[in-house]
Amino acid sequence: MAVVVQKYGGSSVADAEKIKNVARRAVAAQKGGNQVVVVISAMGKTTDELIKLANQVTDHPDDRELDVLLSTGEIVSSTLLAMALKSMGVKAVSLSGAQAGIRTDAVYSRARIRGIKPERIEKELGKNKIVVVAGFQGVTEEMDVTTLGRGGSDTTAVALAVSLGADRCEIYTDVEGVYTADPRLVPEAMRLDEIGYDEMLELASSGARVIHSRAVELGEVYKMPILVASSFSDRPGTLIHGGAPMEVGNKVRGIAHDLNVAKITVIGVPDKPGIASTIFDPLAKANISVDTIVQNASINRITDLTFTVAKSDLAKAMKVIEPVVKSIGARETVSDTKLAKVSIVGAGMQSAPGYASRMFNALHEEGVNIELITTSEIRITCIIDEARVDDTLRALHRAFELEKAE
Ligand code: ASP
Ligand code: MG
Repeated sequence: MAVVVQKYGGSSVADAEKIKNVARRAVAAQKGGNQVVVVISAMGKTTDELIKLANQVTDHPDDRELDVLLSTGEIVSSTLLAMALKSMGVKAVSLSGAQAGIRTDAVYSRARIRGIKPERIEKELGKNKIVVVAGFQGVTEEMDVTTLGRGGSDTTAVALAVSLGADRCEIYTDVEGVYTADPRLVPEAMRLDEIGYDEMLELASSGARVIHSRAVELGEVYKMPILVASSFSDRPGTLIHGGAPMEVGNKVRGIAHDLNVAKITVIGVPDKPGIASTIFDPLAKANISVDTIVQNASINRITDLTFTVAKSDLAKAMKVIEPVVKSIGARETVSDTKLAKVSIVGAGMQSAPGYASRMFNALHEEGVNIELITTSEIRITCIIDEARVDDTLRALHRAFELEKAE
């Protein structure tokens, strides 16, 4: 019998009715002749509320305690789902991350899965049970509970699919798959039937929120096909896999945007070896991830260095680099938070010229100023004024004719 791993996100289990809906879907998958493992997120905004609560108790919640606290959100939803299943006369069991054998390192709030001991899950599947696993959590060598970082249930699901030898991992959410752009902002956006791991990874890390990028990475490494579909309909969704056609007609597959962008510019930096590492080392040590980095050509051995971080990391980043900026003799540091990142992504772009200029033309015609530009082999990103995101997305969607997406 094939093993199917289904993951349901927070909005799919936001209330009792929705939990019963998930139960019916899991039963249907079992009736289809599969062994079913369901990975579940916390109900609705539970995780946010737990974080808020911790912050009301103290400005600096203890890392270890916070992870145990946050892990309870998924315990609540997994137990409720198991109860719903049993009340339908179906054999089921809920398992915490620890009980499911998910071993992680000891980096609280962003733990990495080190390995999975699937014996308990397999034993329960062998008894014809639907196994409900609390997502987003694991346990260290020392049996301390860890969480995998926000949105981590997707990663739990793909990791379990890999370790159980599932044919594919199904991620159910409140949208019907991966779109050419956010359909709430671009009405003409189209759902894609399939997309490659690389393209999905670029879209996810450029702001597309449908699936967590770590889960896609894991899928790519282990060649695990991932279906993203709606938990509220039976439409087919989008299959993320390695066999997506290379030579599609439309080389831009999708447009992503991200409003969580802040820009920091260090002005008057002496241009000599070692300066970049002096600035970026302390940021890395403080666990602040730096995204776009641009260094201007220097004039008289003095240059400006600009980079972006998540808005939520700005205050921390400024604090970290202030003493560094002083020590290297740079003039000053300025920041800007009213920015957004817009990216076009497509694997076919790497062998076809002209995509950057088409993107810049579309922005120019729309009267949108480009603050920064960065690229990868299959992505072109512009940082722009956050007030212009909606127009920009629609203009790019038109310019690249994404309404005709296959
Ligand atoms: N409940 C966690 C969060 O909100 C994990 C998840 O939903 O995947 O981030
Ligand atoms: Mg969530």
